[in-house]
Amino acid sequence: MALDRFGRHIHYLRISLTDHCNLRCVYCMPEEMTFRPNAELMQDDEALLLARLFATLGFDKVRLTGGEPTVRANIVGLVDGISHTAGIRSVTMTTNGLLLPRLARPLAEAGLQRVNISLDTLDPGKFHRLTRWGDLEDVWDGILAAEEAGLTPVKINAVVVAGYNEADVVDLARLSLTHPWQLRFIEMMPFGGATDFQLQQVVTSDQTRQRIETALGGMEPVNDGELDGEARVYRLPGAAGDIGFISTVSRPFCASCTRARLTADGVLRMCLLREFEVDLLAPLRAGASPEEMRRLALDAVWNKPWGHGLAEGDLAVNRVMSQIGG
Ligand code: SAM
Ligand code: SF4
Repeated sequence: MALDRFGRHIHYLRISLTDHCNLRCVYCMPEEMTFRPNAELMQDDEALLLARLFATLGFDKVRLTGGEPTVRANIVGLVDGISHTAGIRSVTMTTNGLLLPRLARPLAEAGLQRVNISLDTLDPGKFHRLTRWGDLEDVWDGILAAEEAGLTPVKINAVVVAGYNEADVVDLARLSLTHPWQLRFIEMMPFGGATDFQLQQVVTSDQTRQRIETALGGMEPVNDGELDGEARVYRLPGAAGDIGFISTVSRPFCASCTRARLTADGVLRMCLLREFEVDLLAPLRAGASPEEMRRLALDAVWNKPWGHGLAEGDLAVNRVMSQIGG
């Protein structure tokens, strides 16, 4: 079992499979983004080897992310390899959904269990403004394809950004009335100077919840208000689905964090919002033994930072979201 020095059991690995993306969401990356050359990224065998290493350390949950994981060549083969790794019980993916009409079924057949699909607004014009390149209809088709392929329950992630989509949360929340989906509202995390967004543009979960309840009526907490992963979950009366709030900025869930992140270039990052990192790919390529790799990973876990420092204005600036894997 991998424990950190605060006694947290770390067993959830988010693997970023690429820093590339077919969108350019304004809060995630600049339009003229520079990507790493392919040779610097984990190759398929390296990603599988590292997934296996973490499985032997007791990691049982994997989420594939990016960048956009579906643009990675051989994504289906990688899902197949990871989901058939001994010890890994759950493989899920966070995606913008654009390629799911083609990929949902093969991914499900390869062992993918669920997807979280990002969708910040139901207004096609605003969707294009937020993603710079996206077409809302493609995401909608992706959501339906995921559902049809059994990648359920589908969760929809909406990052709420002041001046962009804070009023759109009502239409998104309304979807939970008729669809068995979880609509999740995420507080935007400002990443230093890498994007132009600042703490002042964070819309808190309380503000979003109030807006939804004013328009659609009061919500009941699900699970007695306990965290479900990182989300506090509610339900509108009679709704088919749920509404989740991820309050990374206003109510951090660091005390119950169980995660480590492996970036596409094979670096283990122990907190999304702290710059502490340990390179695993370089030693792997230099021929480190399995025992040396194990020791590196366990030491990194042990030194996991307690939590982020957003409340103190302490921002991580060395990577943007797409380079870490959200
Ligand atoms: N491309 C995939 C997608 O968009 O779902 C996966 C990678 S993306 C970096 C993972 C998640 O991080 C998405 O739900 C995205 O909306 C969210 N995200 C990106 N930048 C963010 C930021 N600055 N603050 C909060 N969430 C962010
Ligand atoms: Fe791409 Fe996802 Fe970042 Fe949007 S949030 S630019 S889809 S990686």
